[in-house]
Amino acid sequence: MHKKRILILGGGISGLTLAYYLARRKDLFDIQLIEKSERIGGWIDSDNSTGFFFEKGPRVFRGSKSKEFLELAREIGMDKEMIPCNPDAKARFVWREGRLRKAPILSWGLIKGVLRDLYVKPKVEDESVWDFACRRFNAQVAQDVFDPMVTGIYGGSTSEISMKLGFPLFKALEEKHGSVIKGLLKTPRFNGPRIFSFQRGMKSFIKKLEEMTPVQFHYGEEVTAIGQNTVTTSKGTYEADFIFSALPSHIIGRLLFPQLLQIPLHGTTMVHVGYHKNVLHREGFGYLVASKENDDVLGVVFDSNAFTQFNRSEHETRLTVMLKRDDVSDAEARDLALKGLKNHLKIKDHPDVSLVLRAAKVFPQLRLGHEKILNDVEAVRKEKFPNLRLVGNYFYGVGVNDCIARAKSVSDIFLSETVS
Ligand SMILES: Cc1cc2nc3c(=O)[nH]c(=O)nc-3n(C[C@H](O)[C@H](O)[C@H](O)COP(=O)(O)OP(=O)(O)OC[C@H]3O[C@@H](n4cnc5c(N)ncnc54)[C@H](O)[C@@H]3O)c2cc1C
Repeated sequence: MHKKRILILGGGISGLTLAYYLARRKDLFDIQLIEKSERIGGWIDSDNSTGFFFEKGPRVFRGSKSKEFLELAREIGMDKEMIPCNPDAKARFVWREGRLRKAPILSWGLIKGVLRDLYVKPKVEDESVWDFACRRFNAQVAQDVFDPMVTGIYGGSTSEISMKLGFPLFKALEEKHGSVIKGLLKTPRFNGPRIFSFQRGMKSFIKKLEEMTPVQFHYGEEVTAIGQNTVTTSKGTYEADFIFSALPSHIIGRLLFPQLLQIPLHGTTMVHVGYHKNVLHREGFGYLVASKENDDVLGVVFDSNAFTQFNRSEHETRLTVMLKRDDVSDAEARDLALKGLKNHLKIKDHPDVSLVLRAAKVFPQLRLGHEKILNDVEAVRKEKFPNLRLVGNYFYGVGVNDCIARAKSVSDIFLSETVS
């Protein structure tokens, strides 16, 4: 039987997951994946080149919010390599008004906000995270609890991100239980890992997934145009029965759907620093900087505390500083990071190694009105490109789990529609 041809464009976690799930029916489909760079994984990468271990991209995965990620890890046998975050590194901090405060910041405002949530009526319509938090709790809770979450996940603004899309679980708790707090209290305790990683880092997860995905990979090939059943790349033209885009929103937006260019994209610069001695005199996972501080630093992860398994020596310190700007030179980025560490953590030593990674246009801002953009794109896709499907971190969340969930659900729907 003649196999139908599938082309997947982009080999980040979205494209690779899609390839993995579609390849379940490799008896019916000939699947090829086209990736611009020389390696698969997109933003996911781990680095050992400096003598310290650094996770260059994503590294914070909450077990309770990673259903599809954990399922996939189990399927490909990576659950055996899963490692938990250090239980002594639970504490998180917020930098506010000149000092690090343990989160949640305890105050009368927090207590009053929590009590208020118990009797405020639910609202169905979407609203910004700030408006949601003020309506259900109060401005103090919005500032102290929700603002750092938005900074940590989206590098964005609480008054712009949509509650429904940015934090669907809280919205669902309100709708189901009439109160976020009541909902949280009724939610069964999650028994899996609180925060997890893999023994050899996230790169090993990608490597295993790639090995377990029997499709043809094309590296170093940039997609330059997409037609109804054709894809042109820097190396040639392909014909396909079905095309799946796992390209970032600004790339597929430029190639096919200008509506997607309306989605603002924030970036960051990550500065990884390693010291051969203990310079961090604080236990915990790390801290986020309150947005009203107007600081150059978004937050810092205490990597050597969080995952001690990656430490090469007993006394080393590994930190990742996330900067607000993605347009600074390496030298400027190092200076800003070291200034932040000195100011927030009183670390004056010069690191033994440092690594700068600029991540521009990486965090789609799921603002109010985002759903309308997606609906407009879907209408055009259905009419003009019925053989094309879209996945990526600009749909229902920027997290790795969101990308995996979206790719799996698009693959499931496609297979149920096409395979009788
Ligand atoms: C520094 C950083 C830290 C993060 N931390 C976390 C975290 O702790 N937890 C979490 O859950 N998430 C985190 N994220 C977010 C998460 O990593 C991303 O949202 C996710 O990896 C995006 O995956 P993707 O496959 O959709 O896109 P991408 O990873 O961007 O993959 C897209 C792929 O398409 C390729 N491509 C682009 N243009 C073309 C073209 N024209 N032709 C062919 N190929 C092309 C790219 O090379 C890339 O490989 C972080 C992201 C960054 C950058």
